[in-house]
Amino acid sequence: MLDTTMKSQLQTYLQKVTQPYEIVATLDDGEKSRELWSLLSEIAEVTDKITLRSDGIDERVPSFAFKRAQGGASLCFAGIPLGHEFTSLVLALLQVGGHPPRVSDEVIEQVSELEGEYHFETYYSLSCQNCPDVVQALNLLAVLNPNIRHVAIDGALFQEEVDRRQIMSVPSVYLNGEPFASGRMGVEEILTKIDTGAAQRDARKISEREPFDVLVVGGGPAGAAGAIYAARKGIRTGVAAERFGGQVLDTMGIENLISMAETEGPKLARALEENVRDYNVDIMNLQRASALLPAVEPGGYHEIRFDSGASLKAKTVIVATGARWRELNVPGEKEYRNRGVAYCPHCDGPLFKGKRVAVIGGGNSGVEAAIDLAGIVGHVT
Ligand SMILES: Cc1cc2nc3c(=O)[nH]c(=O)nc-3n(C[C@H](O)[C@H](O)[C@H](O)COP(=O)(O)OP(=O)(O)OC[C@H]3O[C@@H](n4cnc5c(N)ncnc54)[C@H](O)[C@@H]3O)c2cc1C
Repeated sequence: MLDTTMKSQLQTYLQKVTQPYEIVATLDDGEKSRELWSLLSEIAEVTDKITLRSDGIDERVPSFAFKRAQGGASLCFAGIPLGHEFTSLVLALLQVGGHPPRVSDEVIEQVSELEGEYHFETYYSLSCQNCPDVVQALNLLAVLNPNIRHVAIDGALFQEEVDRRQIMSVPSVYLNGEPFASGRMGVEEILTKIDTGAAQRDARKISEREPFDVLVVGGGPAGAAGAIYAARKGIRTGVAAERFGGQVLDTMGIENLISMAETEGPKLARALEENVRDYNVDIMNLQRASALLPAVEPGGYHEIRFDSGASLKAKTVIVATGARWRELNVPGEKEYRNRGVAYCPHCDGPLFKGKRVAVIGGGNSGVEAAIDLAGIVGHVT
C-alpha cells in the first residue's frame, strides 16, 4: 500500500512515538479489509512501539481503533485513511504515541477540562480537502480527553449509513447521534461550539479592550494586509474575523503567489497569522460581526457588534469580509443545503456515486465540475 519513500518517511516520523500502544482492527473476508490489514501491517513493520491485533468487534467493518495501555485515546478510523486523510492517520499515530500536538497550552487545558461524554462521528471522502482539518481536530480532542470519542468514517465505504443519515456533503459531523456541523472546522471552532461558557468568557474579554485606532473586520489576505499596513504606522490595530485565514483555508494548491512555486492554503493562512502577530496586532478570531454603528460625531468611535455578544470601538473600521459561495436564491436551496445541494463537487462528488446530478452554471467552474463528476456519478445534466 505504501511505496518505499512513504515507508521510509513514516519510519522517521514514528521514531517520535514514545509510548507503546495497540491498533485493534475489525475485519472481514472482503477486499477492503485485506487492503486495510496490509496498510496496518506496513505501519507496524516500521516501529516496535505499535502492536497490531485483528480481533476487534467494532460495528463498522473494516475499521481500526487505537488502544493505549494507560487507557484513553478513544479514536477510530472506519475505512482506509489514505488520500487526503493519510496525514490524519500519521498525526493520530504520533499523538496517540505521546508526541505533543501543535496547539497552545491554553487549548490543551480547555480540552482536558471538558466535562460530559462526547461521541463524535465524522464522514469524510478521500478526495475532500476540507475534511482532514476536522478529522485531525476531533482526533486531537479524543487524544487529550478520555471522555471524547471520535470515529472518522469514509462515506464512500459506508454508503448505506450515509444514505440512512441523508449525508450529502463532507465533512459532516455528528455528536452523540445528532447532526453537529458540516464544513471545515478547527479545534478552536469546535471548542466554541461545545464549550459555550468559554465563548461567553471570550466575548467579555473582547468587550473590555480599549478602543482601536484601526479595527479590521475580516481575516483573509486582504484583512491581514490592511492590518499590517496600519500597524506598521505604529497605530493600535486589531483584527476581528469569523475565521482567520479566510477562503485560502478552503484550498490546498496555490500556484500563483508570486515568489513561490506553490503553497497550500492552510500553510499560507498560518504564515499570514504569524506575519500579522509579528506586528503586535490584536487578533480576535471566531468573531462574526453583526452590526456597525457609525460614530455619532466626526472623530468619534465607530462601534462593531458581534454575534458572540462582544462589542469593540475604533476610530477607523476596515471591512475586508471577502466573498462567499454564490447562492441561487431558489426555493429549497437553504433547506437542502448539505442534503442534496452542494457547492464543492471535488469534496462531495463521491457521495453522489451512481446518482443523477445537475450542475448549475456554465462557466469554467461549472464545466470543470461536470467533467469531474462524470467519472463518479450516474448522470450529469
Ligand atoms: C477553493 C478555493 C481555491 C482558491 N484558490 C486560489 C488560488 O489558487 N489562487 C488565488 O489567487 N486565489 C484563490 N482563491 C481565491 C482567494 O482565496 C480569495 O481571492 C482571497 O482569499 C480573498 O481574500 P479576502 O481577504 O478578500 O477575503 P476572504 O479570504 O474571503 O476573507 C474574508 C474574511 O472575512 C471574514 N468575515 C466574513 N464575514 C465576516 C463577518 N460578518 N464578521 C467577521 N468576519 C467576517 C472571514 O471569516 C474571513 O476571515 C481560492 C478560493 C477558494 C474558495
